[in-house]
Amino acid sequence: MIELDGLSGEELFKSSDGLTYKDFLILPGYIDFSPDEVSLQTRATRNLQIQMPLMSSPMDTVTEAEMAISIALLGGLGVIHNNNSIEDQGNMVERVKRYKNGFISDPKVLSPEHTVRDVEHFKLKYGFSGIPITEDGSLKTRLIGIVTNRDIDLETNKDLKINDVMTRELITAREGVSLKEANEILKNSKKGKLPIINKDGLLVSLTSRTDIKKNKEYPLASKDTSKQLLVGASVSTHPQDRLRIEHLISKKVDILVIDSAQGYSRFQIELIKELKKKYPQIEIIAGNVVTSEQARGLIDAGADGLRIGMGPGSICITQDTMASGRSQANAVYYTARYAKKYNVPVIADGGITNIGDITKAIAIGASSVMVGSLLAGTSQAPGSYFYENGVRLKKYRGMASLEVLESKEGGGAKRYNAENQPIKVAQGVSGAVMDKGSIYDFVPYLFQGVKHAFQDIGARDVAILHEKLNSKKLRFERRSLAAQVQGGVHNLYSYKKPIIGAD
Ligand code: 5GP
Repeated sequence: MIELDGLSGEELFKSSDGLTYKDFLILPGYIDFSPDEVSLQTRATRNLQIQMPLMSSPMDTVTEAEMAISIALLGGLGVIHNNNSIEDQGNMVERVKRYKNGFISDPKVLSPEHTVRDVEHFKLKYGFSGIPITEDGSLKTRLIGIVTNRDIDLETNKDLKINDVMTRELITAREGVSLKEANEILKNSKKGKLPIINKDGLLVSLTSRTDIKKNKEYPLASKDTSKQLLVGASVSTHPQDRLRIEHLISKKVDILVIDSAQGYSRFQIELIKELKKKYPQIEIIAGNVVTSEQARGLIDAGADGLRIGMGPGSICITQDTMASGRSQANAVYYTARYAKKYNVPVIADGGITNIGDITKAIAIGASSVMVGSLLAGTSQAPGSYFYENGVRLKKYRGMASLEVLESKEGGGAKRYNAENQPIKVAQGVSGAVMDKGSIYDFVPYLFQGVKHAFQDIGARDVAILHEKLNSKKLRFERRSLAAQVQGGVHNLYSYKKPIIGAD
């Protein structure tokens, strides 16, 4: 039998310095299948499966309801941040759980007392017209009309009440209508918007003609047993967050992520035990940890998944300021090796910059990756775009940046055990990332790339890749600095990146 080239995972990590993804390569395997045959199905937690090994980080510039909905539709999982009020976080979870593909569950609504000027203002602010009018201008009250462009475009008196201009003959559909039926009604009626009402005539949602083309099916969508999208939410170990936890559970959150930069603590162990006893149906992701000993503490307490990473994040200065942490590849490898014995998946959190990093994190034992900067520039991330030196950007900030530590809700301070400290020491920075367009284009590109990478390695799915790692058939090689330079684009005067932000 031929002696295998390269190093096993154990050999790669045993005698080396702290490594990260760029420090090594995976040696190619044998191909006898196409990328389409690769399955990226994996476990988000002990008991929850997802079809794409991607989670969006609970950061206030990354995951709110829109990101969580989009990422779940694509097969991953969004974790809603907690730098907000209990109500706000609960409402975001509710929006994800209530989401019905193709239906707008929180349409903008006005009352008959509003004016033509208000409609124009809405149009300017949100970029659409066709606004349902309800008795008191809120959702879940009686629908009495709709205002469209044609009702107001020739109106010169901007103070005229909507009551005097709106269209009262309405075509509506009843709650429970399928997306296909709703599309058919829109097609036949030639209307722009179709309000959906319940049996009492109260407005519950809206579907729109402009969205018809976008209303695709999402076969990989991450769903619970009642076919609602899966969603996670972050919480802290703080006593006052017990109320937050109760509220999130009442909104049907699937996964609680205990958000702490250094998760091996008495507080976290006590919280996991308490939650597992009180809410056995809720999956708990604990962390962050980077060593086997830390992983043991949280697994023994009952964690269903572990978040791995202390210091690799793009906005993170922990390793420099706190002097502790671990190089990310070592952290993932050792914690995954330990957690495997207990059937607990680990999530490689932070420092993921491209397709290769995702593949490598999984190849060394992670079940999924969690990302911040990779998604912060997409249109589904919170916040608006702005320009700097002609480049279109979005804000991205660490949850331990001074900005967040000092924010009213104190979500960042809780994560970094800093809320009662008179002087707050930053462990993160605040910055900007480039526009990456829509995640509906960006994420499928990334994961098609991961499928090609699996093909090159000769692994048809995540379980096979992990089996190869554990049986030492998966071989690795350290890369010298010169090899890393040669592995990237070099010796060109100029070139165009294939996709912005994935490099
Ligand atoms: P990225 O994907 O941008 O490289 O890293 C995102 C991860 O960085 C988050 O999921 C979280 O674990 C971590 N993180 C978020 N904010 C901060 C911060 O201010 N300081 C540190 N040390 N880590 C952060």
